[in-house]
Amino acid sequence: MKVLIIGGGGREHALAWRLAQSPEVERVFASPGNPGIARVAACLPAGDGSPDAYLALAESVDADLTVVGPEAPLVAGVVDAFRARGRAIFGPTAAAAQLEGSKVFAKNFLQQSNIPTAAFVAAPNAAAARRALDRFSYPVVIKQDSLAAGKGVVVAEDRASAEAALASLKPPFVIEEFLAGEEVSYIVLSDGRNVVPLEPTQDHKAVFDGDAGPNTGGMGAYCDSRVLTAAQSRTILDRIIRPTIEATGFTGFLYAGLMMTSDGPKVLEFNVRLGDPETQPIMHRMRSDIAPLLLAATQSALPAARMEWQPGPSVCVVLASGGYPGAFTAGKPIHGIEAAEATGATVFHAGTRHGAHNGSAGLETAGGRVLGVTASGSDLAAAIDNTYTAARLIHFDGMHYRTDIGRKGLRRYSGATI
Ligand code: AMP
Repeated sequence: MKVLIIGGGGREHALAWRLAQSPEVERVFASPGNPGIARVAACLPAGDGSPDAYLALAESVDADLTVVGPEAPLVAGVVDAFRARGRAIFGPTAAAAQLEGSKVFAKNFLQQSNIPTAAFVAAPNAAAARRALDRFSYPVVIKQDSLAAGKGVVVAEDRASAEAALASLKPPFVIEEFLAGEEVSYIVLSDGRNVVPLEPTQDHKAVFDGDAGPNTGGMGAYCDSRVLTAAQSRTILDRIIRPTIEATGFTGFLYAGLMMTSDGPKVLEFNVRLGDPETQPIMHRMRSDIAPLLLAATQSALPAARMEWQPGPSVCVVLASGGYPGAFTAGKPIHGIEAAEATGATVFHAGTRHGAHNGSAGLETAGGRVLGVTASGSDLAAAIDNTYTAARLIHFDGMHYRTDIGRKGLRRYSGATI
């Protein structure tokens, strides 16, 4: 089959890399893609990025299957546009994408469906939010209702930081009880009825080591079957995933961002697509061919399959531009990707582009998150070591990365579960 991937970040590079290895896939296209994706797929411009532009593109290459990476085209109705023309696409409708597109919608849904989540108040404006704050203790969590590329959430330690958050975020708001515990990203494929779970991952959202500093789109992730026990996975499927899919008929990748609290798993947020950077270690570890599952899901025929995985964990460390998640300067030449890959790691591209420096052509930075260095190992410690050995060979001006990706997971090797 011919597959079109919508998007151009690290998540889409990992997906394209995996799909290009499928014996069922004749050709991969990506729109807009990036220089890393161009090694495994034909990259095509996205036009104005509207649902109709992607539909025209899928028709022009006669794609048998389209897979959507980012949330924005889903919320804009790309799946509805494709279905109206009878073209196969894997993702949720615009209505179902509201689970991610609006935090107020998601919280009301969770509450009405009796799915465990943090206590909350929805506030249409800052004045209502200030009144709501009186009902919470600190730390308190303040979220903007609308999409914010992972940056619309502030954990406020005191009233002054809560006021500052209300000034920096866009109304309406959700004010939410702070939950303590370990976070887990739990992602399933769904055809509207049947689900196939992917292996659990743990993301690292804060910019600095030890979860310090502001939240980012994600600074690294690891994929390891030991992130959850079999009993915990069953609870998540029974209490959270299946009720959500039954109530919404959700199709696509459903991603539950969970806090594993002392009262069990609770939903922090839903995403309606694969995570970035979780997709990088997931695709790196995946042994099964995901292409036929994605196609079957578009035909409401997802088999009750269990996917096969490499036994050893995979780790992805994101190399970011100086200043990210704040302002940063693009156009810095990137060195060392080949040397990093020569160690056995895979370097997924996110914010990269072709440039010319001192008269010679090469890659340069083009975004906040630039590269996702991904490697596996026989156990998590080895996977972490292999990933950082490769990451240290890459350089660009201002580059920074966390040095503790996966460390929380190491605790589980000494018998602790979350
Ligand atoms: P969200 O986009 O809702 O997942 O929030 C982004 C990040 O903020 C999460 O990954 C958590 O690290 C943190 N967060 C969100 N909600 C809460 C909460 N209720 N308690 C503690 N941390 C939270």
